[in-house]
Amino acid sequence: MIKLKESVEKLQAYFVNDLPYKVKLDANEGSNYLLKDGFKIDNFKANLYPDSDSKILREKMSKYYKCKAENIMVGNGSSELINTIINAYCEKGEKVMSFIPSFSMYQTYCDLCGAEYVGVETEMDFSQNIDKLIDEAKKENPKIVIVCNPNNPTGYVTPKEDLVKLLDNVQNSLIIIDEAYADFSEISVIDLINKYENLLVMRTLSKAFGLAGLRVGAVIANEKTIKYIWKVKVPYNLNILSQYAAEQALDNIDKVKDYTNRVKKLRQSLKDSLEELNFTVYPSGGNFLFVKSPVDNLFENLMEQGVLIREFRYDEVYNRITIATEEENKILLEEIGKLIG
Ligand code: PMP
Repeated sequence: MIKLKESVEKLQAYFVNDLPYKVKLDANEGSNYLLKDGFKIDNFKANLYPDSDSKILREKMSKYYKCKAENIMVGNGSSELINTIINAYCEKGEKVMSFIPSFSMYQTYCDLCGAEYVGVETEMDFSQNIDKLIDEAKKENPKIVIVCNPNNPTGYVTPKEDLVKLLDNVQNSLIIIDEAYADFSEISVIDLINKYENLLVMRTLSKAFGLAGLRVGAVIANEKTIKYIWKVKVPYNLNILSQYAAEQALDNIDKVKDYTNRVKKLRQSLKDSLEELNFTVYPSGGNFLFVKSPVDNLFENLMEQGVLIREFRYDEVYNRITIATEEENKILLEEIGKLIG
């Protein structure tokens, strides 16, 4: 077999559980509420390439993100954009720093391009000490620092003043704030893009908009930075159907706030219920809860009952549970109740 390049050869292919389920709480997908009746296809020309600049989509996104269309570049999910950006900025051996645990794909994207991933441990309670990150960044001089806020999988929300401190103190690195779940918390740094030229904010329609299947993500930065990184955008990366569907979904952004408020309430009630069942539940700003179960093998036992959650094995076993609908939460709690007895 012809060998892949060295940095890629050692990688494991991304594994996605393909199990039968009655309730899917493993991937933090949102509910299907914006396009539940499908979307209109008229004046549809599949023979032509899509708008490579996704002008209409970016215009509509800019209203939700409270910036200009010129501040936005879109991609096939924020995953594609994070990969492209790491690849574009990092020479082989250059460092990318982030807290650990965090979104596991940062490490994968580093491996793909031969960048070195440097993890800074979170505290015992999974909170993130920004001074520690700043000190490490000063020592290691990474090309990129990524903070996932709220953090996946722990749910920890970095206060805005910590992010400002990071931006003020680490000016020679690209600072990526991954706000995949920011719609479910109170904090965003999009309003700082014109102050910090080295700040890139990642957003996605996969979570709060419930549109994971469309694969639409965005990088938001000041106009000069977006113009600069536009050269790494894969031409025509966002297919015509995704652009079309996302544009129509964004005509209903008034529904997004209602949805995220509902999820926040359900997050609190699920947290209360799980704590009553002796779970340790970490504070979360996302559409998920990071928990430590009082029973062993929670993941396997729930899977057998058709309830999919995610398992994380660090020094101990933890689980991440997506906040879905009230009915789905109920099924989850019933199944956990049966396990606990
Ligand atoms: N960032 C974080 C923190 C995520 O959890 C995810 C998806 N799980 C992504 C980025 C990628 O999202 P997408 O590619 O669907 O936009």
